Amino acid sequence: MLSIKVLHAQDTLKVNLSGFIPAKGLFKLVYVPFTVPEGVTEIRVKETYSDKGKNVLNLGIYGPEGFELGNTAGFRGWSGGAKTEFFMNASEASTGYVAGKIKAGIWNILIYPSTITAEGINWQLDVILVKGVNKAPFKISPAPETVNNKPGWYRGDLHMHTFHSDGKRSQQKLLQEAKANGLDFIVSTEHNTNSANLSWGQYKTDKLLVINGEEVTTTAFGHWNAIGLSPTSWIEWRYTPEDNMIGTYLNQVKADGGLAIINHPFYNEERINSFGFDADLFDGIEVWNGHAKWNQLDELALEWWDSLLRQGKRKIAIAASDSHTPELSDNPVGSPHTVVQAEALSRKEIMAGLRAGKAYLAQGKETTLTFTAKAGAVTAGIGNELATSPGKEVHVSLAVTGTPDAFTATLVGDKGILASEKATGSNPTFSWRIAAGATKYLRVEVRDLKGDMVALTNPIWLL
Ligand SMILES: [Zn+2]
Ligand SMILES: [Zn+2]
Repeated sequence: MLSIKVLHAQDTLKVNLSGFIPAKGLFKLVYVPFTVPEGVTEIRVKETYSDKGKNVLNLGIYGPEGFELGNTAGFRGWSGGAKTEFFMNASEASTGYVAGKIKAGIWNILIYPSTITAEGINWQLDVILVKGVNKAPFKISPAPETVNNKPGWYRGDLHMHTFHSDGKRSQQKLLQEAKANGLDFIVSTEHNTNSANLSWGQYKTDKLLVINGEEVTTTAFGHWNAIGLSPTSWIEWRYTPEDNMIGTYLNQVKADGGLAIINHPFYNEERINSFGFDADLFDGIEVWNGHAKWNQLDELALEWWDSLLRQGKRKIAIAASDSHTPELSDNPVGSPHTVVQAEALSRKEIMAGLRAGKAYLAQGKETTLTFTAKAGAVTAGIGNELATSPGKEVHVSLAVTGTPDAFTATLVGDKGILASEKATGSNPTFSWRIAAGATKYLRVEVRDLKGDMVALTNPIWLL
């Protein structure tokens, strides 16, 4: 049901759109068209709906280029349930939305309920079309793709939010927090929009590498992060597992040199894996999602990841804060984070290091792990393969710094725990000998004495 009322004033046109979504319309996308005549230079939209709080009505907009799947030219912004009003003109737009010329033609506002009461939702969209002179056109200003060319282990947070989706901070503030929390890089991952990626270059990054990403958010089927994107890439989210469309968009991520990571697979109270797409298609899993502490949902994600490793599926494990709020929140940027071995602090090399699984996960910036396995004269590190000979031993060593006073280091293989040792004192080292053929991979977990994760590694693969 839709009703349209158009009111004319001298320099503005007001379009009032309204309708009703019944309870069975949960997650169903509703496109609400309106016509923009020639001469309009700014669009302002205000959304109101019944029982806000109990109901959540997501909001976004598409231009006259169209709204069919994958139409990046038509996409003009998304704020999900985080905003109920926005504007855009040639030079500026609300966060989450994409500035640019307002073309005449049929535009579509996209709304859909992600929470709905039995009574349904009465909604109204008040659109103001402002006529005038176009301001200077918005120019994209992406972050630099290289900070330095030095090989090293770089600390990065792969998942976070600003005002460009449902975060409670500006981009500039986020950069300051990331720097203060000891990070070398961040991945910008707003829900279903690339608007932040278009403007990171406007801010002072202070030698922090900013990599573009997007949290592809299909509310009913789980969230995943596309990371390592080109700044103008936008990844489509409007499909279900049954549509068999996801391969198209995963290929888009791959073509960009990016990776697709399943986010917080166990994030609901039922503690079931809520990720609805085929995990085999993805590169990795966020096994550690930011909270004050390692929790039971992380434990489930870790178990799931390990079960995939045991099946020979080489998924990358990552840790990320998913930080939404600044400073003293219980998930500040960088807590936890992923430490990546890369040939340079650049988008290309960080992505290459991650893709190879050359990464460990840590709660705090002080923690470092050095984990190697040696067979004969050859030594392999995290993410590497090591050829072993039957009947020979593999020498495994681990050095840990910057951990709590006492902790347990556990060596895990494809059949479970291979060794576990308690340690005290600063900078302890461990060495273990494993029979070649005993396991297809080796990985390490460092936990405090309560069992909370301090750090964990991706595997070394034994051949
Ligand atoms: Zn999410
Ligand atoms: Zn998120």
